[in-house]
Amino acid sequence: MAFIKWLMPLLAVFALAGCGKDADNAAAGAQAQQTFKWKLVTSWPKNFPGLGTGPEKFAAMVDEMSNGRLQIKVYGAGQLVPALEVFDAVSRGTAEMGHSGAYYWKGKSVAAQFFTSVPFGLNAQEMNAWIQYGGGLQIWQEVYAPFNIIPMAGGNSGVQMGGWFNKEINSVEDLKGLKMRIPGLGGEVLSRAGGTPVTLPGAELFTALQTGQIDATEWVGPYNDLAFGLYKAAKYYYYPGWHEPGSMLEFLINKDAFNKLPKDLQAIVTVAARAVNQDMLDEYTASNNRALVELVEKHKVDVRPFPDDVLLKLRGLSDEVLKEVAAQDPLAQKAYDSFVNFRDKVSHYHSYTEQAFINARNKPAK
Ligand code: CA
Repeated sequence: MAFIKWLMPLLAVFALAGCGKDADNAAAGAQAQQTFKWKLVTSWPKNFPGLGTGPEKFAAMVDEMSNGRLQIKVYGAGQLVPALEVFDAVSRGTAEMGHSGAYYWKGKSVAAQFFTSVPFGLNAQEMNAWIQYGGGLQIWQEVYAPFNIIPMAGGNSGVQMGGWFNKEINSVEDLKGLKMRIPGLGGEVLSRAGGTPVTLPGAELFTALQTGQIDATEWVGPYNDLAFGLYKAAKYYYYPGWHEPGSMLEFLINKDAFNKLPKDLQAIVTVAARAVNQDMLDEYTASNNRALVELVEKHKVDVRPFPDDVLLKLRGLSDEVLKEVAAQDPLAQKAYDSFVNFRDKVSHYHSYTEQAFINARNKPAK
């Protein structure tokens, strides 16, 4: 008996050691068999071109890459939760994932406004560089951590258009009294220039413009604007979209749900998000290009640049607004410092590269 007593713990240790490898393999095998079913809620109508098709592509990609082990069902705005409750739904785990835009969540954290688009901020290429290699993602993760959410870049519209106007903008004076649908920081900038920013959902833009309830509206760019028929309700199409130079969308992931996934599925989610982020920009670039040609050639739209002094004025006011946002809390200040520092350096670099090249390419050939 004494021998057995002495042996028991040792046997137990051997038993554990012996089955250790097998147990690991068995666990990995079980994980490889385990299927996860996730819900993904969005702030867009189901399958809305670009914004809504992005998360659909993401879900299809994840399904295929994981051989069906991670199945993600995508919900349009209002199907499971309203458009602007996506953040809360992911935070509390009602849905494991969301697809939206960070600037909607400024009520949760002021700093969130730096992670969609900033007036006179970064274009899509620069935004991706800041997020992936310029420290942006780490700050964004810090902003969302208290809400149990992991953020990932989820697509980009590229530089948007300035918008549809029924009043000519020939000088800074013309901004005074201008009633324009323009959300977020851009709206704040317009109000400092003497205009009246209005917030309206996309579906109401056409009627508001046609009835004169507003003088102007921005939406996205030729691809989405053409689909809304905005050219039928406005005289002029101004550019560029100084207020949204590269609007990045986001994937929101419930942290607990992500941590429950085996490593390979976590990698699949991360890589698919990265792929969709780039894919959406590619789709927008090609589709905007086609749609602009149609707007000009078929619908005879009057496309105009904003005058230089108007853009300069708006740029000065944007700097003012950004500094004030930064001063509202330490994390916003941290995001601002990183963002502005990156923008200044990349602007300098791009003046020698992208900008110089595009200027050279677009001059009439001799
Ligand atoms: Ca817009």
